[in-house]
Amino acid sequence: MAISSLHDPLRSLEEGRWFKLICGASFQNLPAIRTLALVYSLAGADCIDVAADPAVIHAAREGITAAQKLQPVVQPVWLMVSLNDGEDPHFRKATFDPQRCPSDCSRPCVSICPAQAIAFSEHHSGVLEERCYGCGRCLPICPIEQITTRSHPATLEAVAPLIRSGQVNALELHTQVGHEEAFQQLWLRVQPLLSDLKILSISCPEASGILDYLTYLHQLIAPLPCPLIWQTDGRPMSGDIGDGATRATLRYGEAVLRSPLPGFVQLAGGTNAHTILKIKSRDQNAEHPTSTLSGIAFGSYARSLLQGLQSKLEAQPHSSYHLEDYPALLTEGLEAARQLVEPLKHIYSLNPGKGAA
Ligand code: SF4
Ligand code: SF4
Repeated sequence: MAISSLHDPLRSLEEGRWFKLICGASFQNLPAIRTLALVYSLAGADCIDVAADPAVIHAAREGITAAQKLQPVVQPVWLMVSLNDGEDPHFRKATFDPQRCPSDCSRPCVSICPAQAIAFSEHHSGVLEERCYGCGRCLPICPIEQITTRSHPATLEAVAPLIRSGQVNALELHTQVGHEEAFQQLWLRVQPLLSDLKILSISCPEASGILDYLTYLHQLIAPLPCPLIWQTDGRPMSGDIGDGATRATLRYGEAVLRSPLPGFVQLAGGTNAHTILKIKSRDQNAEHPTSTLSGIAFGSYARSLLQGLQSKLEAQPHSSYHLEDYPALLTEGLEAARQLVEPLKHIYSLNPGKGAA
């Protein structure tokens, strides 16, 4: 299997070759997240962006670690967590009392759980909270109907220990024009963690007054102990609907680049396989190409490339849900992911002044 060359995420930003995979702030399918993290890490991604949920972080970290075991050289892949300044997302977790399990139960709850979140061992019996993503498959299968769920709010506080321990390397704060007060509240809670971050990203959809709002945010957060990315979220979660979806983020990214705001500018929202072609064509037609974009984040489009693969993985008899156990499927996934990653990594830098191949 051909392997991507060693890269450094910060250098990728400087050279206009930063590739971020967005798993989705509310996407909690742990087996799929593990597969996405594994395949896109192998393909050369710089960063994987996931929900602020310890179970999701654990799954993504497992995928990155599996990729690094398959690589002859260890390449850094940053794990980013997304938070927003609106209400906190709520999740559910399964729960039951293992003391009540009949000794002759064949434990169908263990085999049906796709996240290996139910264990019976001398170290732990019951639900492993950090793995459970609340899919509910274990609920109806229990013969004594003792498995229930409870809500599980995901907060910055829940992921703070993972940031401090280096399991999470980056934070992305989602905000909107007009959220000054809510952002200030979030910022107060984020500040103590800044020194543990490799990078901070701010994501904001385009709206009237956007540049004034971003300028306000920058005045609030500066100076920062780490580099900053502006994620120009053009047409959120639409990259898989067609090539035209990419125009909004490109236009928005160019507007931020023309402003005096310091920081890297990375496209997102509506990004897909056409994004790089559109940037290239724009630069070729411009009298004075000004492209100094730092990278692109791919979400729904990147995930859709591996959707069929994940179904095949889950359909394997007694599937381990570990893609690396199925070499043919791993190769298939890697080929699909490379179609998206390689043009940015090896063919066309978004910042020709610094990243010419
Ligand atoms: S709800 Fe049940 S089956 Fe689903 S991840 Fe949690 S423990 Fe596993
Ligand atoms: S299926 Fe129900 S009774 Fe059986 S081991 Fe699982 S939780 Fe216990």
